[in-house]
Amino acid sequence: MVTYWELTLPATAETSEALTNFLWELGALGVVEEEPAGAEARLRAFFPPTAEAGALPARLAAYGAGLAALGFPAVGPAAVTPLADRDWAVAWREHFRPVAVGRRLLVAPPWERPRADGRLVITIEPGRAFGSGHHGSTAGCLTLIETVLDRGGPVACALDLGTGSVILAIAAARLGVGSVVAVDDDPDAVAVAAANAAGNGVADRVRCLLGRVGEIPLAPAPLAIANLLTTAHVALAGRYPAHVLPGGTLVLGGILDVEAERVADVLGGHGFVGAGAVSLEGWTTLALRHAAGPDATFHAGA
Ligand code: SAH
Repeated sequence: MVTYWELTLPATAETSEALTNFLWELGALGVVEEEPAGAEARLRAFFPPTAEAGALPARLAAYGAGLAALGFPAVGPAAVTPLADRDWAVAWREHFRPVAVGRRLLVAPPWERPRADGRLVITIEPGRAFGSGHHGSTAGCLTLIETVLDRGGPVACALDLGTGSVILAIAAARLGVGSVVAVDDDPDAVAVAAANAAGNGVADRVRCLLGRVGEIPLAPAPLAIANLLTTAHVALAGRYPAHVLPGGTLVLGGILDVEAERVADVLGGHGFVGAGAVSLEGWTTLALRHAAGPDATFHAGA
């Protein structure tokens, strides 16, 4: 008997974010991004038995046509196949293997008990909140947080702007940041974030708040991290100086490689200078230092 449906769809770095969001909207229970060696990147989504499986490829084709009209690359056809219940659970779990990030971190799902080998283990249940550690933008932020903390010495507090699963805030706390304020405007994400912070033993040091970055009042910190998208960074560029103390560091993720220079330029106009960059799977993460000086001081009050 068919219990679940699996949908596969070719995707590119440009289209995968939008397609993933659309798959969630269509009622997917899980979406994974795969880049098989030597084969085209694709998305695999899992749908419940109640989904109108036959209608899904047409819905995606229509959505793909909309993306193409906006200038995105063409989206190939989706294929839907039935899956036995047990296969689905296995397929989902197999994707989320423990992943070593940077020099000291290891992100693992709760059903794995990986050998830490001296690394700090962060346990994240892959679910609806973004941030399992497998996405290039999350891994890039984790890598640069580690680098910034290793280089700059102890940091008393940090901001995680758009926290999702709260993975970045947990990492910062585990790497020695005294306290972290983590913000998300999605109530589901904040609930998941609070549960993950507790599950990782850092609930007393990571405060999860519901609010929109740019609107919610936040005290400036020596380190602020935001894994959003380029459009959000450009829109928030004038706000970031108020979140990062002069001399402090801003880590920005969710930037396509081709967009990195523009984001750095825009932030340059708000008192930030480049302090490092990493590119993983087509996603650039930038570390930017908030230059101290009259201009920075002026912006900090804005
Ligand atoms: N920090 C995690 C999640 C990044 S996904 C990681 O690095 O993996 C981005 C998250 O930011 C989502 O959970 C989304 O709900 C949230 N978000 C997007 N724009 C926001 C805004 N303006 N204010 C607050 N949260 C926002």
